[in-house]
Amino acid sequence: MTEKTAPETRSPTTLDPQDWSAFRTRAHAMLERALDKMEDATDGRVWTPVPEALHRTLETGLSQEGTGPEAMDALIASLLPHGVGNTHPRFFGWVHGAGTPSGLMPAIAEAAMNANCGGRNHAGIHVERQLTRWLCNLFGFPDTASGLAVSGTSMATIIALKTARDRATAFASRADGMAGHSFTAYTSAEAHACIARAFDILGLGSEALRKIPVDDHFRMQLPALRAAVAEDRASGKTPLAIIGTAGTVNTGAIDPLVDLADIAAEEGLWFHVDGAFGACGIMSERLAPRLAGIDRADSIAFDFHKWLHVTYDAGFVLVRDGEAHRKSFSNRPDYLSGVERGLAAANPWPVEYGPELSRGFRALKIWAQLLEFGPARLGAAITANCEQVDYLASLVDRESDLERLAPTETSICCFRYKAEGMSEEDLDALNQEIVIRLQESGAAAPSTTRIRGALAIRVNITNHRTRFADLDYLIEETLNVGKAIASGK
Ligand SMILES: *Cc1c(COP(=O)(O)O)cnc(C)c1O
Repeated sequence: MTEKTAPETRSPTTLDPQDWSAFRTRAHAMLERALDKMEDATDGRVWTPVPEALHRTLETGLSQEGTGPEAMDALIASLLPHGVGNTHPRFFGWVHGAGTPSGLMPAIAEAAMNANCGGRNHAGIHVERQLTRWLCNLFGFPDTASGLAVSGTSMATIIALKTARDRATAFASRADGMAGHSFTAYTSAEAHACIARAFDILGLGSEALRKIPVDDHFRMQLPALRAAVAEDRASGKTPLAIIGTAGTVNTGAIDPLVDLADIAAEEGLWFHVDGAFGACGIMSERLAPRLAGIDRADSIAFDFHKWLHVTYDAGFVLVRDGEAHRKSFSNRPDYLSGVERGLAAANPWPVEYGPELSRGFRALKIWAQLLEFGPARLGAAITANCEQVDYLASLVDRESDLERLAPTETSICCFRYKAEGMSEEDLDALNQEIVIRLQESGAAAPSTTRIRGALAIRVNITNHRTRFADLDYLIEETLNVGKAIASGK
């Protein structure tokens, strides 16, 4: 092979910098800003809303000639303080990951390579394959399983359930649609809304998803599940899948996965696990035993941007029957396996496993996080968060003005402030106001949910920066704010 050198003159329309030395200075300055933000992540306010002046700037139209580099860099810098707040140790809302400074490395490399990971023969494809093999090992899936890096659990769920749907029709549904089929599936009443949304998007209809009641620990009730399957069979429906949750979004509960796997096997149903944040607990000594049975799933949807702190967005789908997964998305006939050499080799390509053709090198940041820290250290951070949740529950339990609303199992503690003689309605309003004031003051950022109808202060700790003292502070502030509101301030 002879190495060809490029022509020395620049394209007159190139978007590359004229002066590389000036560009390096500019890039280093941006890197410094990003590093400052990350080094200071434990200080200051949790959430800082977008100020009025910045709002106005963000409403201006696009300049035809462009702003040039200085103005653009300054604008980006002005955005940096106004994220969600999830890089801060007292961000406790929803389920967000905290990110890591190391996340900058793959982000920079990804931008520099600008690889399209829909297919073709390049490093990106091989990294994603290695990542998939690592994940199969972690979850006890066979080598014939397949996987795909996706935007998040919502997309992973759609891909997994499309595979389930198509396999159940011997892949005829791909061409013929859903006419003549009446599939049903089963998940708990605590399941995430993305599952019903997947049913909607896949033409199965969100009503086909049966919501099975939960027990005192917010886990799916097995007798109710069996009854629902039997009832649907008796009325001529076709049960398709059982969808367990490993870490529900309200209370962090883990469904009895072994039992769900048993029932799915007995009934001949696809067993899917929504492990959005909980599945990564497989790396934690404390949670791994609770996840027993996940290795028997037909598919798992989960995220790396939550409890593994990979930069958004980073989700993954694993499918046990890799061949069915490919047959559900590939448009390549079986007899055409693709070329063996050159840039069009390295088949099969990711495009055969999901709905996207062009896709970024999302696998890189996931692969890098696992490679740098290793499952043991990432798992230890998860275990520490579980211990912090138990600690928080103990703080709540010893305060007479606070009331715990759910057991703790993984990353979530739900409680409320309780004032004597208040109606349920007034308590809901009071606790909603506490959460808003905590967020607006910059002290902490919990969110809310409803537990058996009551509005709860919901604290989720999927955050490697959180310290025990942050929880003392949270309780102190909650009590102060609660007292102030209850006394009319
Ligand atoms: C966050 C979450 C989802 C949705 O995941 P995305 O990555 O936001 O698409 C689904 N299920 C559970 C249990 C979740 O916590």
